[in-house]
Amino acid sequence: MALRRIGLLGGGQLGRMTIEEARKYPSWFAVLSPDFPSPGADLADEVVIGDLMDPEAVLDLGGRVDVVSYEIEHVSVDALKELESRGIPVLPGSAVLERIQDKGLQKRLWDEAGLPQAPWTDLPDDLAALPPADRAEALRSRAGRVGGFPVVQKLRRGGYDGRGVRILSSPEDEPLPGPSFLEAKVDFSKELAVVAVRAPGSVPAAYPCVEMVFDPAANLCDSVRAPADEPPEILESALHTALACVEALDRAARAASPGGAGAAGVFAVELFLTRDGRVLVNEAAPRPHNSGHFTQDACAASQFEQYFRILAGLPPASIEQFRPARMLNILGAPGASGTPEYEGLAEALAVPGVTVHLYGKREVRPYRKMGHLTAVADTPEEAALRAEAARSRLRVLGS
Ligand code: ADP
Repeated sequence: MALRRIGLLGGGQLGRMTIEEARKYPSWFAVLSPDFPSPGADLADEVVIGDLMDPEAVLDLGGRVDVVSYEIEHVSVDALKELESRGIPVLPGSAVLERIQDKGLQKRLWDEAGLPQAPWTDLPDDLAALPPADRAEALRSRAGRVGGFPVVQKLRRGGYDGRGVRILSSPEDEPLPGPSFLEAKVDFSKELAVVAVRAPGSVPAAYPCVEMVFDPAANLCDSVRAPADEPPEILESALHTALACVEALDRAARAASPGGAGAAGVFAVELFLTRDGRVLVNEAAPRPHNSGHFTQDACAASQFEQYFRILAGLPPASIEQFRPARMLNILGAPGASGTPEYEGLAEALAVPGVTVHLYGKREVRPYRKMGHLTAVADTPEEAALRAEAARSRLRVLGS
């Protein structure tokens, strides 16, 4: 069987880990990356260097392959639509990405699908440019609709890793410039996530629900506990909600673009668990996700293998988790710059049950994601101890 040649937009670590997994099979990848070398482009069979927002570059990539996908959301949707109209499949379909790129459209979809989420309301596009008194009045009236201050302002487009999210404590606080909406500040006890897998035309399956623990200094997800330590009814509710998000994305995408692939691929749904025990949708990503990295070392098949299989036209694999796991991100040390040096790697690898995944980035910066490690063990507590022991031995410095 000849497997499809795959074109991936984005030269980051998610593409890299997908290609790593795909090498078990007779796979072929072309990667569009703004720079070379880069983690994903390093392992590709063919590299197109170009901007992910440049339609010409995306069409160039599409002309070389049988199927196109993206490991990052910030790519040209118009170019993906053009590829679809030329008969080149895009997975997930361009209509899925168009919906996800705009967090306001995402929120609308969750409302339409009857999914639980924080109350929200639109803001005027020119909010930041209004005179201070008008701005404060606009914020005061909108905040009232979602339960009052403090509120969370979110840019509709372009945000990631918390950029594009601002907590406003009063009408006088300076809002972020750009089209945005306001959302109630959720009193959550935990942030949960579910990675789901969906082959074209089939029902989605989901890995166990995990807890994401954030590092306030880096504003990044720092650690993932898999599975989350919650009662079965909460875990069930999280899975059910995440799968319903994927189904809703699929329905909306098919309605908008009947010829498109719909929600086929790997999806991550980020959720809040409120202090009163409700599961709320935060946002979805149409690609493998940091919260699913544990699947590489703790599951029958990783999220990257699933992604590859779906792109290649193979059936998805089992989502079974064999052992409790703890994933920790490996970030550049404070003050680090230049070529990365992995101090203590051998010592970290000596911890039982630990696997280290380094992304091959050529330059380290403080708090930059340079890799991750996963520890598995018989109990979640032991997995956490092993992971922390390994990370405490490893530092990414620069030279
Ligand atoms: P990004 O797409 O940049 O990751 P998110 O919408 O996930 O943005 O927000 C980043 C973080 O901000 C979340 O992980 C959470 O910690 C916090 N946050 C987002 N929305 C809310 C909210 N409504 N209430 C409280 N905290 C929030």
